[in-house]
Amino acid sequence: MIRAYLLLGSNTGDRNLLMEAARVRIGLLAGKIAASSALYETAAWGNTEQPPFLNQVIALDTTLDARLLLTTILSVEKSLGRIRTTQWAPRTIDIDILLHGDAVIHEHDLTVPHPALPDRRFALTPLNEIAADLRHPVLQKTIGELLAECVDTLSVTMVNDSR
Ligand code: AMP
Repeated sequence: MIRAYLLLGSNTGDRNLLMEAARVRIGLLAGKIAASSALYETAAWGNTEQPPFLNQVIALDTTLDARLLLTTILSVEKSLGRIRTTQWAPRTIDIDILLHGDAVIHEHDLTVPHPALPDRRFALTPLNEIAADLRHPVLQKTIGELLAECVDTLSVTMVNDSR
């Protein structure tokens, strides 16, 4: 069993519903969700056309290798992309593999740990909430250390803690 960390994000439609549906499907298809961060809102400043994101990190205990996990999360994204709760509303969900145990993977369509993790406060903040002492297998720093060093100025605000 491997502990993986996934970042969920949504910025259109019923974001809470989409995040919940993603968690349910990941739990059914990919493994057991061992921990979930709170939901965080990231203001999409710089582009007023872009609504704010909800982000959340989940810890997943899985028997799937990183490649199979990627295939699974892409199928979950695709299935949720088709959900329409009102006729015209767009619906999107993004799911990224942040970490997959100590795996270090550099393939054309899969990079693990996620290369943007150290630069993204909206990923580091929820990850730090549930895994502050986890050590990044390449950078050899803890998530707490990476967050303390992160220069991303985008605001990341906890919006609920209803786990
Ligand atoms: P995006 O929609 O910008 O998140 O990009 C999705 C694509 O990124 C997927 O089709 C993957 O092939 C690729 N990808 C590379 N590394 C990762 C990763 N660690 N987690 C999720 N997707 C990844």
